[in-house]
Amino acid sequence: MAEAQERPKIEKPIGLAARPTRSQEFYDRVKQKYSEERDIRLRYRPDGTRQYISDLTGELARYEIDPYGGEVTPREAINDTVEVLFIGGGFSALLTSARLREVGVESIRIVEKGADVGGTWYWNRYPGVACDVVAYDYLPLLDEMNYVPRDHYAKGPEIYAHCQAIARKYNLYELAVFQTTVTSTVWDNAEQMWHLTTDRGDHMKARFVICANGTLSKPKLAKIKGLESFKGYSFHTSRWDYAYTKPDLSGLKDKVVGIIGTGATAVQAIPGLGASAKELYVFQRTPSSIDVRDDWETDPEWAKTLPKGWQAKRRERAKMSPMMTLSPAQKAKLDAMSHDEKIRMQENANIEAMMKIHQRIDEIVKDKPTAEALKPWYMLMCKRPCFHNDYLPTFNLPNVHLIDTKGKGIREITEKGPVFEGKQYELDVLIYATGFEVQKTGIYNEIKGESGLELNDKYREGIRTLLGIHTQGYPNLFIMGGYQASFQFNLTDMLQAQGDHIAACIDYARRHGFQSFDATKEAEEWWVNEVIEHRGKTTRNQDCTPGYYNFEGEFQRRQDGNYNGGFFQYCNHLNEVRVRMDEHFAFKKK
Ligand code: NDP
Repeated sequence: MAEAQERPKIEKPIGLAARPTRSQEFYDRVKQKYSEERDIRLRYRPDGTRQYISDLTGELARYEIDPYGGEVTPREAINDTVEVLFIGGGFSALLTSARLREVGVESIRIVEKGADVGGTWYWNRYPGVACDVVAYDYLPLLDEMNYVPRDHYAKGPEIYAHCQAIARKYNLYELAVFQTTVTSTVWDNAEQMWHLTTDRGDHMKARFVICANGTLSKPKLAKIKGLESFKGYSFHTSRWDYAYTKPDLSGLKDKVVGIIGTGATAVQAIPGLGASAKELYVFQRTPSSIDVRDDWETDPEWAKTLPKGWQAKRRERAKMSPMMTLSPAQKAKLDAMSHDEKIRMQENANIEAMMKIHQRIDEIVKDKPTAEALKPWYMLMCKRPCFHNDYLPTFNLPNVHLIDTKGKGIREITEKGPVFEGKQYELDVLIYATGFEVQKTGIYNEIKGESGLELNDKYREGIRTLLGIHTQGYPNLFIMGGYQASFQFNLTDMLQAQGDHIAACIDYARRHGFQSFDATKEAEEWWVNEVIEHRGKTTRNQDCTPGYYNFEGEFQRRQDGNYNGGFFQYCNHLNEVRVRMDEHFAFKKK
């Protein structure tokens, strides 16, 4: 049986495995430059996360309209009861539903704003959309679906189709409600049930509710002076208007196009835009790091050799890998080092990797000032690292222009287009690649627990959860992909761990005849302290360039972030809690 697929002979990503070989003085100088670049950016965005707007109402409402779902299909309001209700129909709902079916839960409803399941992969259909995590790890339920992805990295349409296939296999379309947004979720103490209302006049009841609204689902725009005054055509990347651009982007061949933002989305969309638009202006505030994308087609012979349960084994190995990569000698050497020495070693290796990213830019981008402007000056992983083979060459095209705002960003838009340093850029089309609201629980939706307190009001003095999943006073409610859970580059590893946990908790309550259960105050206090303790261990948030990973530089937040104790440890905690359910939860019979 082949353990690993034979790699074609292509360039490997630089990653973080670069050995520091230069003088400490060099690394210190680079660190100094990192700090200066960070400070420039912090000065230009004193309003932190408030520099963005995701409450897209009035004139801005059009940026959130679904261009894919067609007319909203009229239907009668729903007035019924289900056992488990998911708010959101992306991977969180799909992979948890699979586990719930395995333990015999029949009544499962997905309520979803889009016109189908898929979540991120429903909304993000911009040209070039793909996933940077190896497909054999990223796509969930490959064992159960008996499916091997077509390539080493999957493209958006394949992932979206996989979501639909899961929904079909687990019979999730039957009760699903699409083009519907949950607006309130209120706990009824007497009935021990959740009551949900929607924007379609529904009144549904559910015993268990799972907030599966995704980590990055609500599009946001930068608050730029004059944004509404632009007279050309504009849209957000997650609402790509193919009716305008045409599926092959031929609609842009006589258009001057601008794109604001150079994050992971823009990096994938820009090559297609550069190849198709008459002129393309890329408005950059901070460059992304662009590593090699080592993609290849799955070898069908290798796929045939995969044994039953192969993906579960890969997931287990990924969870254990931080523990297994060191030899006893390496471990002993590390143990002998002081904390500061360890940090210095990691930082130097990181800088070395970033210098290789810089070198690659110099090798590919012909125009020297453009190459300089594309170089990121921050520790790798301060922002989502990107992997693309066509992004950097796009800047060699004569019709593509990088407008580097040197950390300042676009701060003014007129009816003709963006203005930077007094220069007006006249555009036909302006595309916002400005990202999403991050890991927010209860978007579009008010969640009121036992005492009637809205969940985000409970969180006002700091998020309070048990494992990022349960929150005291909100019985039978589960949160997926929210803060205070572990952060994983492969998000589906984390979602699968949460989904397995939630299904096991629901199964436990059903088997023991409990109508509801709620995290105890003590259990919640324990977890909040765990989160705080691990968040205080590094100065990484302060040191990094601002972005959504560090709340745009609002790094004073204590427990309002991810659990930094590591994924392996997080999974151990999930297990511990399940083994001793009665110590962490209060249960009620009907
Ligand atoms: P991001 O939030 O990562 O990027 C937003 C971009 O907008 C940043 O480059 C930001 O600059 C820029 N920006 C904001 N305001 C302005 C302004 N006024 N002027 C100029 N630029 C501005 O959003 P994305 O949609 O790119 O990505 C979100 C996440 O989605 C990724 O981090 C990743 O987790 C996921 N994703 C993963 C993909 C993959 O697997 N390849 C592909 C796409 C998305 P600054 O950096 O200075 O803040």
